[in-house]
Amino acid sequence: MRRSQYFLPTLKENPAEAQIVSHRLMLRAGMIRQESAGIYSWLPLGFRVLQRIEQIVREEQDASGALEVLMPTIQPADLWRKSGRYDDYGAEMLRIKDRHEREMLYGPTNEEMITEMFRAGVKSYRDVPRMMYHIQWKFRDEVRPRFGVMRGREFLMKDNYSFDLDYEGAKQSYNKMFVAYLRTFARMGLKAIPMQADSGPIGGDMSHEFLIVAETGESQIFADRDFLDMDWKDQKVDYQDAEQIGGIVKHFTSRYAATDEKHDPAKCPLSPDRLVEARGIEVGHIFYFGTKYSKPLGCVVSGANGEQIAVEMGSYGIGVSRLTGAIIEASHDDAGIIWPEAVAPFKVGLINLRSGDAKCDAACADIYGKLRQAGIEVLYDDREETAGGKFADMDLIGLPWQLIVGPRGLAAGKVELKERRTGKRDELSAEDALARLGRPAA
Ligand code: ATP
Ligand code: MG
Repeated sequence: MRRSQYFLPTLKENPAEAQIVSHRLMLRAGMIRQESAGIYSWLPLGFRVLQRIEQIVREEQDASGALEVLMPTIQPADLWRKSGRYDDYGAEMLRIKDRHEREMLYGPTNEEMITEMFRAGVKSYRDVPRMMYHIQWKFRDEVRPRFGVMRGREFLMKDNYSFDLDYEGAKQSYNKMFVAYLRTFARMGLKAIPMQADSGPIGGDMSHEFLIVAETGESQIFADRDFLDMDWKDQKVDYQDAEQIGGIVKHFTSRYAATDEKHDPAKCPLSPDRLVEARGIEVGHIFYFGTKYSKPLGCVVSGANGEQIAVEMGSYGIGVSRLTGAIIEASHDDAGIIWPEAVAPFKVGLINLRSGDAKCDAACADIYGKLRQAGIEVLYDDREETAGGKFADMDLIGLPWQLIVGPRGLAAGKVELKERRTGKRDELSAEDALARLGRPAA
């Protein structure tokens, strides 16, 4: 993509309305635009990141055996009356009426709808277990929408739902999702710590929130230092191997981690030097709730002896749009964003230090063409701007690599390759630079 043909309205100044760094940087990097409180448009650069994140989430859901579906954003109120949540949900739910005066709502979540959908399509115990998910916009009329996409009113969520015959089955589905979450967040360069969360009237220990450590997080967390020290590189998993999956879950749940809602200093086994007290951002939540929805909605299957069994369910959410902000909170410096390669909008920023100079233009055009041919995503700053302005913009938008081409280097047959994360610069030939960029990420 040539910058001269892109839509990337970057800002030099910090917008006054943004209180936290990710919100400031998303606005300054031209990623999003607020349309009304807690409701955003995604501009080209921001939308690319959102799609990257969505795709990683999708791939790990698929790998776990979950099936992707797409349910609508608008739901009938009657469905929610069956579960009793229409009245319980309160002011967070956006309620609307269609032209026939039928009561509708903009879905804040989809338990009712998916339970109904599953009920209508299954008959016997042979039809379970199943997991189904979708990645869809939600609306919650939050009391205080704030921090940009971190607490929006309209936001993109991945929500998965599991259907099992009994508690043991439900536990296995839960464990699969637990592991899928570890893998999903690790691929984005995040250490998302699973923490025991409130399981409400259902009780039990099958409710975990996944939080990343960040100063601006809304929750207070207490966790074993091990979580930050351990190696999060993903390992191969076999989702059919219940023992292996259970082992990974145990490895993580055997260490202490709790948010302030659950933390009990009297029960915390950690010595002060092993206890990390910090702020955290919730990026996902997994939750087992048994027959809470299947019973009222009649989602039953017949067992081997013809008996009627209400299916055991769980739900598993990831804040896809919140993750764009959360990743920035975890990965930035004073100059701007530092994208982990897996979610970067482009891998390389090509900077022409003297656009209009025939040699620089020709060398950049050649490199640009070769990068594209090699399938390496590149944003080429071909504008007639000052070098300083181009550097600042490129640092701000945080692409992992910058390839800098100027008249002095070219005279010596060199270009410069800068790694955004470390700031490390190397002078090398264009061929060597291309070869380096062609290698898969370490
Ligand atoms: P919170 O306590 O932050 O309000 P929640 O318990 O309401 O979260 P869930 O219903 O479990 O959240 O939703 C699943 C995920 O969706 C959360 O883990 C979070 O990452 C994301 N999420 C929830 N509310 C919002 C919001 N208002 N804006 C952006 N993402 C959100
Ligand atoms: Mg909430």
